[in-house]
Amino acid sequence: MDRPEALLDTLRQHIGPAHVLRPEDADLSAWTVDWRKRYHGRPLALVRPADAAEVATVMRACAAAGVAVVPQGGNTGLVGGGVPDASGRQILLNLGRLSRVRALDVDNLTLTVEAGCILQQVQQVAAAAGLLFPLSLAAEGSCTIGGNLASNAGGTAVLRYGNARELCLGLEVVTPQGELWSGLGGLRKDNTGYDLRDLYIGSEGTLGILTAATLKLFPAPAAQTTALAACASLEAAVALLGRARAALGAALTGFEVMNAAALALVARHFPALPRPFADGAWPAWTVLIEQSEAGSPDAPGEAAAARATERFEALLAGALEAGTIDDAVVAASLAQSRSLWALREHIPLAQAEAGLNIKHDIALPVSRIPAFVEANGRDLAAACPGSTLICFGHLGDGNLHHNLQAPAGIDAPAFLRAHEAQVNALVHDAVQAAGGSFSAEHGIGALKCEELGRRKDPVALALMRRLKQALDPLNLMNPGRLLPPG
Ligand code: FAD
Repeated sequence: MDRPEALLDTLRQHIGPAHVLRPEDADLSAWTVDWRKRYHGRPLALVRPADAAEVATVMRACAAAGVAVVPQGGNTGLVGGGVPDASGRQILLNLGRLSRVRALDVDNLTLTVEAGCILQQVQQVAAAAGLLFPLSLAAEGSCTIGGNLASNAGGTAVLRYGNARELCLGLEVVTPQGELWSGLGGLRKDNTGYDLRDLYIGSEGTLGILTAATLKLFPAPAAQTTALAACASLEAAVALLGRARAALGAALTGFEVMNAAALALVARHFPALPRPFADGAWPAWTVLIEQSEAGSPDAPGEAAAARATERFEALLAGALEAGTIDDAVVAASLAQSRSLWALREHIPLAQAEAGLNIKHDIALPVSRIPAFVEANGRDLAAACPGSTLICFGHLGDGNLHHNLQAPAGIDAPAFLRAHEAQVNALVHDAVQAAGGSFSAEHGIGALKCEELGRRKDPVALALMRRLKQALDPLNLMNPGRLLPPG
């Protein structure tokens, strides 16, 4: 980049000076520091285009100038993939202004939205049409559809509806060279060659910019019921999952697990949230189960709700009798259901309040999870005496957040510096030995780039590098993220 000012002049001319901001001119920390506050970047400029044509113009100008681009949605990612490095040489391309709803097709059950639409708004547009967009995660009030698809987000409804990938029928993409590919067809069948949509989903901004997506919608459930169950062990929680699958079938839409330490942390930082079990204590493992009952034009919501509650109560009574669970609470209203979900959703927020922790986002076959957690928990306690294992997540998908919190009174950054590499190796070696993945849903970003180099199958890694080279030969798209150097 010989003349950054010339590039910035071009961008100001096309995007408007108010949407090309240099760090010298404004406080950009909301965009340049990641959600966990681990990465503090400094871009050449923050650029905020208004539409796909402007994104294409930015990409053409950056390609001509040889300047790297870091795409960003809501900046809620947990692996440092959406903030620039500190070189002052990268353009931070925030997609937030691409926030239009382009089309709702009720008969086709599809919604086409621009990449900067906030996930919660997308859910609301679907709900207003009596439909459901099921992607749901605790950051839904600020993350964007573009970011969700770029990181192939999971969340709490994967068990029934799949990851972001399964919820997307089409994409519109701007290439690193500034071409615009419109693949927003909304077809459920289209066998016309390589699936470019699937290539871009989960590519974390390293192959191109997502500017719009056609999303799958579903009939809205007529009733949803939620319950918490107390389990003495993870084996019991897995047994309860088996019972729930058998009793509820496709109506089982959520199965989350939380250890006692995770809920104690929530209670400490958010004391207004409920303590639903009789004695106010937290069992070793708490399971949150959600059931969604389909409606029909002829069956009113109350009938569906009554049916769902009855089925739920039978499931829980059977589990109590068999000794699979020790206690259970069924939400009696929507408000109560929300307050049970709030316990689960506040765990990442409580962890953020408690300071930095060593996070792991792991996937394992469900059957291997209890033995893994027990053995690995012992190894972690021996390696870091006094630390606390905060373990929670999407047990129904075999995905756990297995995070180590620093011992009380110990400076969290110092704890990370001293123990992070050793703890990561302890967890990821054990995950690999059990046939799992060290990145279930958060992606690779900057945080796990080297780990990908160490653990990905070498042939798969070489194929990924060839794809990157073919689509982005100048390595201008989010360099240093996802693919390790080399
Ligand atoms: P960003 O953080 O801005 O970006 C994420 C990545 O996508 C970056 O690599 C960025 O370069 C790229 N990107 C963003 N937009 C585009 C685009 N338009 N085109 C190309 N690349 C782009 N994740 C889960 O999977 N499941 C969870 O349950 C979950 N819970 C969370 C809870 C909390 C409290 C928080 C803070 C995060 C959680 N996450 C979860 C992390 C999750 O990845 C993000 O919240 C979300 O998917 C990222 O969306 P975003 O718009 O904020 O993307």
